[in-house]
Amino acid sequence: MEKILNYINGELLKPSNGEYFENYNPSNGSAYSWVPDSDKTDIDKAVAAAKEAFKSWSKTSKHERSKLLMKLADAIEKRSEEFIRAESKDNGKTESQARKVDIPRASANLRFFATAILHDHSELHEMDGEAINYTSRQAIGVAACISPWNLPLYLLTWKIAPALATGNTVVAKPSEVTPMTAFLLSKICIEVGFPKGVLNIVHGYGSKVGDPLTTHVDTPIISFTGGTETGKHIAGLTAPMFKKTSLELGGKNPNIIFADANFDQAIEMSVKAAFSNQGQICLCGSRLFVQKEIYSKFKAALLTEVSKLKVGDPKAPETDLGAMVSESHMKKVLGKIEEAKKLGGQILIGGEREILGGELKKGYFLQPTVIEGLSNDCSINQQEIFGPVVSLIPFETEGEVIEMANATKYGLSASIFTENISRGHRVAAAIDAGIVWINTWILRDLRIPFGGMKQSGLGREGGFKSLQFFTEPKNVCLKI
Ligand code: NAD
Repeated sequence: MEKILNYINGELLKPSNGEYFENYNPSNGSAYSWVPDSDKTDIDKAVAAAKEAFKSWSKTSKHERSKLLMKLADAIEKRSEEFIRAESKDNGKTESQARKVDIPRASANLRFFATAILHDHSELHEMDGEAINYTSRQAIGVAACISPWNLPLYLLTWKIAPALATGNTVVAKPSEVTPMTAFLLSKICIEVGFPKGVLNIVHGYGSKVGDPLTTHVDTPIISFTGGTETGKHIAGLTAPMFKKTSLELGGKNPNIIFADANFDQAIEMSVKAAFSNQGQICLCGSRLFVQKEIYSKFKAALLTEVSKLKVGDPKAPETDLGAMVSESHMKKVLGKIEEAKKLGGQILIGGEREILGGELKKGYFLQPTVIEGLSNDCSINQQEIFGPVVSLIPFETEGEVIEMANATKYGLSASIFTENISRGHRVAAAIDAGIVWINTWILRDLRIPFGGMKQSGLGREGGFKSLQFFTEPKNVCLKI
């Protein structure tokens, strides 16, 4: 089995302790590579390399940094089929999802921030002829970039691109569950001659690698995407160290269908919002609120569409849902379905593990599942399940649905389907979420502020928000 290696100071290195753990292919349940079981020693080495590289990288011109990031983007694009196959094998997601979304977005993230730095601007405040204030923005140092398993290369590049573009150096920690495309990226860095120490990638378990990284005295910036509990843990450790921290966390997003919605569009988007990437996207619409007048018709049409979804081989182009990321995660989701039944929920479709034949018989496949009859305040409608499970909830009035939509600890995203434009804006204004879509879902412009309210996160990523996060403003006041 192939051994994944850390990428430290421009070299591919074994973990210092020589230990590895197994990495599984979720579609057949077998181990296929080894992941470094790195620890503090590797983090210390990586941070030292990044700190040293910061001295020169922070002084390179924007054009030089931009050129190098563009080279990385081009190299990913050139080898995109290799990345697509690797992402699908490592994560269980369909190759078509990786081809359409994950891998093109990785290149797009790098290109977006490589060019954004060329179009940034600074501020100037004049004081009526008495003085001029100008505000420059400086790179900060070594950024710790920690990413989850659901969109592995997509979310890793979403962090490292703005961090590097603004002149910081990086120690990245990809998810231990899906390390492969980050490993491929490190090989590409070597191929394109990325300067040593500027980007470092250390693999390993969350707390064993994560704690020494986030609490390291030389990592003043932490950019984290993952679960709310891990976010709380990181915030608890790093707040007394006054680190600049961005936390992109979980969601329990409402998808609201009013009776006056474009029916076909609402059905199509609701299916996408519930089951894309096996329901393993932080933005998935897992609470589906439908107005009573159309509830029966909507439910019937939804079930018809869900029954057409094909769970199958992630490599096959006709597959809609691939495998869940791991056996433990699949079992967790199955446990939530059992909990839903105990709470009185009716499983309208799905609810079981899908056993495929041949080589895939041990794969972690789940049926797309629709549940009805649960109150909005029960655990299933309050906790993030992060699987192909959607809960149907009827509502009567606009006020009632706004109240239910907001009655969770999360506030990441929401979708509203209505043909009444005033209602669309009114409800969007009343919903506690960082991102609200009207008549669509997951339509993303990389310039917009991205992030959540309440326990869905702290801060915003995207566009100039990311450039600001990874830089420190400094105001200079010049007396005239
Ligand atoms: P997770 O919190 O378990 O892990 C995320 C990353 O943090 C992994 O790399 C993990 O190894 C690392 N980690 C774990 N413990 C750590 C510690 N003590 N210190 C530092 N790092 C540590 O999350 P996950 O299961 O990989 O991902 C799923 C979660 O991510 C879901 O809750 C989902 O909603 C969330 N997510 C949020 C967004 C967003 O933009 N808001 C996007 C994608 C996923």
